[in-house]
Amino acid sequence: MGLDVIVIGGGIGGLCLAQGLRKAGVSVVVYEKGPRGVDPRWLQGYQIHIDPNGAKALQDCLTPAIWGALVANAYEPSAGFQVLTEQMKQIAFVEPEIMNRSSHVPIDRATLREMLLEGLDEVVHFGKEFVCYEQAREGKVKALFEHGSSAIGDVLVGADGTGSKVCKQYLPQAHIVDTGVVGAACRLPINSRDREYLPEHLLTRLTSIVAHSGYMIVTQSIHKPGSHPSTDTIGDHIIWVFLSSRQAYGDADPRLMDGGSVKRLVLQRIEHWHPVLRRMAPTQGSATRFRHPLANRDKKRDQPDTENRFDFAHEIEELSPEY
Ligand SMILES: Cc1cc2nc3c(=O)[nH]c(=O)nc-3n(C[C@H](O)[C@H](O)[C@H](O)COP(=O)(O)OP(=O)(O)OC[C@H]3O[C@@H](n4cnc5c(N)ncnc54)[C@H](O)[C@@H]3O)c2cc1C
Repeated sequence: MGLDVIVIGGGIGGLCLAQGLRKAGVSVVVYEKGPRGVDPRWLQGYQIHIDPNGAKALQDCLTPAIWGALVANAYEPSAGFQVLTEQMKQIAFVEPEIMNRSSHVPIDRATLREMLLEGLDEVVHFGKEFVCYEQAREGKVKALFEHGSSAIGDVLVGADGTGSKVCKQYLPQAHIVDTGVVGAACRLPINSRDREYLPEHLLTRLTSIVAHSGYMIVTQSIHKPGSHPSTDTIGDHIIWVFLSSRQAYGDADPRLMDGGSVKRLVLQRIEHWHPVLRRMAPTQGSATRFRHPLANRDKKRDQPDTENRFDFAHEIEELSPEY
């Protein structure tokens, strides 16, 4: 007799797992609290950059047809990675070949979601908010949802993101630790005037601009292949992220600031930077939407007594689109 797996959460992890289990012939049902249609949390417009290890794992989970469609819809990979000072002096450059360019898969979030949902019509149940689980008979587990419905399976997987209710019940001692690092992100559309003043490397490479002041800006230009089915209509653009400690915001709570206030603050913080970098930053008059600043968080799980650590790459993995 096979296993019946219940997955809570139809985000990247839950959908990928469902695809992999189905491919392996394991019975799986996903319960997602959000709607089937275009979920606003998936429309942040940011890309997901899947590195070669992630790409290999994802490929293993998907059918060849879905993987093929996913790769066909990916963005142009970056032409290398560079680190610049705030005066635009290059400190480091990693060539695309070294970054194993061919196996990096940068993709639009909404498109990735559509791909991961492919073939899962009968598997994913939307509008189902998990509340708690309890032990059922014969070693099974019962998941309870809002409005009184429930589901029974052999295994319950919590793929319900950073604020996971499954995790809260299973590991009550685990808690989220604020690392104090804040990222303010927006997308800057690239028009012909921008192409005149922006150097080619800023238009094609993943770039970290590191300043002595302790602030950092990360940029990545996004080029969409012609027949992109994404619902996102911004076209070619630059993802622009200002990373700093919370102290950079003074007494203000960055989560409560509106886009205009964040822009003003960032422009003050980079007022002595190279003119091109200042010009590239979102201006007061620009029509870009500023996403609410994101607080990177680390989650202590089964080691509540160990010291909190901050590891940027790890934080990005932990960051949930719900934030
Ligand atoms: C701007 C941004 C850029 C990022 N870029 C990258 C990147 O380039 N590469 C990368 O690897 N990662 C990136 N990340 C991180 C990545 O998005 C997360 O690591 C990833 O989404 C985590 O996947 P997940 O399935 O664990 O959780 P999520 O994607 O958060 O999915 C959780 C799902 O569970 C659902 N859910 C929550 N609670 C319940 C409940 N009670 N009942 C039912 N359903 C529930 C939610 O609605 C959601 O759909 C980025 C994050 C952000 C915000």
